[in-house]
This record gives sequence, structure tokens and C-alpha cells, in this order.
Amino acid sequence: MNSPPIFCYHKITSRLDFGIGTRTPDAFRRDVAWIASLPASVRPQLAFDDGYDNTFTAAYPILAEHGLTASVFVVTSMLGNPNSWDSNFFGAFMHLSLSQVKALSSAGWHIGSHGVTHRALTTLSNTDLRRELLDSRQFLEDALGKAITQLSFPFGMFDARVIDECRSAGYTSALSIRCASSDGFVLRSKAVYRFDSPAQLRAKLADAPAELWRLRVINSFSGLTVAMHQLTRYA
Ligand SMILES: [Zn+2]
Repeated sequence: MNSPPIFCYHKITSRLDFGIGTRTPDAFRRDVAWIASLPASVRPQLAFDDGYDNTFTAAYPILAEHGLTASVFVVTSMLGNPNSWDSNFFGAFMHLSLSQVKALSSAGWHIGSHGVTHRALTTLSNTDLRRELLDSRQFLEDALGKAITQLSFPFGMFDARVIDECRSAGYTSALSIRCASSDGFVLRSKAVYRFDSPAQLRAKLADAPAELWRLRVINSFSGLTVAMHQLTRYA
């Protein structure tokens, strides 16, 4: 394995949702108990993309019981607001408030950027791309008084131009749920989905080819979501 194992979660909730990005608190509790039982050298780091408020209300207490912390990648324009890009007839999920982000930071969690508006960075003009990278970083540094050096790419999407702009904006590394970059700047985080079994978590940790292929198929659907957003923007 050439990069540290990272598991990426989205929503920890029992609430019904259309997507597969939810994990129930019971399943998450089981995941964390297993992760905590692993030797530190092979234990995956946990990342939460999107910064939903259940990262604070559901995930944080379960991790704290085991003395573990995680990273959370927040969308700065969404703080304290209902979700706007992934909502459906089940209703919108709330994002973390700034005070919840501050509380996680104080508790030793690592805070990173997931952009200002959660748009796929590869689709943006240079001006908009820089705004997403710089404004989110500046906002978090001002609010937390800590250096923000890592981001997670919305929809996992990046290319060489995005990496160059990330470096110019002061980031030292990034996460993608799709793949790593050959230069080591982008680390792969493996998403954990609603229906993942304990065996599938073990397969993610071991980089089992069948599980990597399965994640690729699932991630291609988020590519479709991006394409739909692109189309509807001009509709
Ligand atoms: Zn996201």
C-alpha cells in the first residue's frame, strides 16, 4: 500500500435517504469498534466529506468513546444551512454550524476544505477554481486560527490543472474518493456506503481488486450527477 488507508464517510444517520451515502449509527458503531481494535500501523484514518451536522451529533461521540478523532471536510458556504446539492423528496440534511466545526477542531479533529459551493473543480474556470480553493481556506483559517492545508475534492474529481492551483493556493495534499495521483499529492479515500458489510470494509483496507472495482462503478454514478448538474445549469 503506497498511501495510508483512509475511509470516507458522508452521513451517519438512520433517516431514510435516496442516496447510498448514509451509514446508520449502529453500523458506524460496529465499524469504529473494529477500527479501534486494529493495530495503529494498519488502522484506517477516517474522513467525513460534506460536513453534515450528524458528523458532530452522531459520529463524534462514537469516535470519542474509543479515543479516536477524524478529519472533516466542510463546504464553507453551506455551514449552518440545509444541503442544496444532494437533497430529494426525503428532505434535506443540515450541515455543521461553524460553532460545531470549532468544537470538533478543539477536540483534536482535523478540519479541511471541501470547497465553497461543492462544485466539481474540473468543470470551473480558473477564476472560479481559485475562488473555491482560496476563499474556503481563508474562511476556515480565519474562523479556526489554524493552518488549513488539505482539501477533499467534491465528487472526487481533479486533474493536473486542479492540482497546480491547489499547490498555488497553499494546500499540501488532497483526498479523492476516485483515485490517487502519481505525484503523491492526491491520496485516495475509500468511501463507506450504506450497504457495506464488515467483509467489504476489510476488502477496502486490503485494497482487494474486486472492492476497488466496485467503488469505481459506484463513483461513476457521481460522475453522472456532475454531468446532470452541468446540463441543468444551462437548461
Ligand atoms: Zn462531497
